[in-house]
Amino acid sequence: MMKATALVAVFTSVTAFTLSPSPMVRSRAAVASARSSPLAASAFKFEFPSFDFGGAGAGKGKGKKLCVITGASSGLGLEAARVLACERDDYFVVAAVRDVEKMKREAERMGIPAAKYTALKCDLADFASVRNFAKDLKQLQGARPLDTLCCNAAVYRPTDPVAAFSADGFELSMASNHLGHFLLCNLVLADMAKNKAKDARVIIVGSITGNSNTVGGGLVYPRADVGQFQGWEQIASGDKAAADVPMVDGKPFFGAKAYKDAKVCNMMTVAELHRRYHADTGIQFNSLYPGCIADTPLFREKRQWFRDGFPLFMKYVTGGYVSMPESGERLAQVIAAPECAKSNVYWSWNGGAKTVAYVNPLTNKLTGAGGSGGEIFENDQSSQVSNPEKQKKMFELSSQLVGCTWPESYKGKR
Ligand code: NDP
Repeated sequence: MMKATALVAVFTSVTAFTLSPSPMVRSRAAVASARSSPLAASAFKFEFPSFDFGGAGAGKGKGKKLCVITGASSGLGLEAARVLACERDDYFVVAAVRDVEKMKREAERMGIPAAKYTALKCDLADFASVRNFAKDLKQLQGARPLDTLCCNAAVYRPTDPVAAFSADGFELSMASNHLGHFLLCNLVLADMAKNKAKDARVIIVGSITGNSNTVGGGLVYPRADVGQFQGWEQIASGDKAAADVPMVDGKPFFGAKAYKDAKVCNMMTVAELHRRYHADTGIQFNSLYPGCIADTPLFREKRQWFRDGFPLFMKYVTGGYVSMPESGERLAQVIAAPECAKSNVYWSWNGGAKTVAYVNPLTNKLTGAGGSGGEIFENDQSSQVSNPEKQKKMFELSSQLVGCTWPESYKGKR
């Protein structure tokens, strides 16, 4: 086992340094100066509401539980949408996606009936788009409660040599994976609480890569480290010199670490939302690690040899591999299963990732133990993720960065 874990560390660390062409770069400074320039007013673009239910109107999904899944157009989110829409009769999926047409194509390919879901535009790397989505969602809901918000979308940009920035001028992985979701939670929370939805759940997908008490998060360089949020403090202070600070800890840009840091913030958000709001609202806040779904497009920016080799490596060497359909079952379980109606849990599965692959003497075939199978259990998180002072600081600074306030009436006490 030790051999296998060391191999994971080497394999993943080496690949973190394989550079590919840089994406669009738009710094915080550029965003800020565009906003303050005299041209900013003329550059202002009116955003028409993105509300489009294909003519079916707000009655869509009537009588079903409403479940928003961000990033439902690919990988884990798409599979979970398929499970809820195709295998259950009591859910209606609202796919919060950056590309509505892609979602429709993928839903058709997966056999998800049009009557069981709707796709609404939501670009998490653009706070205006997130706000628009919340308005569209409200129209769809009408008087109905929102039952579940599942924050699943993410980008992973380990090969970027320099930081790319969101529409609002934040480093792209942190903006898409954490800040956009943080704002979305803020926008729907009061409504979920007010509606007193029974069994209301907010789920934010976490990862072992953000938990340094694991092999994936502890041995594989770089480790997640939000430090004392020095980078965010600089940005929040309005210090002009901080205009282009890409990392939460104020250190130089490192794409693989930016993803892991965002996952730490995702899991901390769950804990802090639970502390502040669970007792008052009954909403259940949870996170999960779905397993290593090594062949999702999350790894799209890696070179082809990595994309070919990584699933095989995870399947036959470490045994940590979980297929896309199985991961979807897992996420759907956390969304809908009665045994997951708890709050402040980091769900995991004790699949077969404990052993390495072996040649089965009966079949003479290489058999991967697989991270698949096993039972769901309540996992521990790293001391960084579960540090209450850091959780609080993360929550307050994130609120400042996205420009949101939280309902006074639910303010919890430490
Ligand atoms: P995918 O790349 O397959 O899916 C990511 C989804 O996020 C896509 O639908 C993508 O949209 C969407 N997305 C990206 N940026 C934005 C944005 N700005 N606004 C809205 N949507 C956006 O990855 P996975 O399915 O693997 O990842 C899903 C979740 O699982 C992530 O949170 C990831 O961290 C987590 N995870 C994944 C693991 C794995 O091994 N794959 C392991 C542990 C956790 P589009 O379709 O348009 O590209």
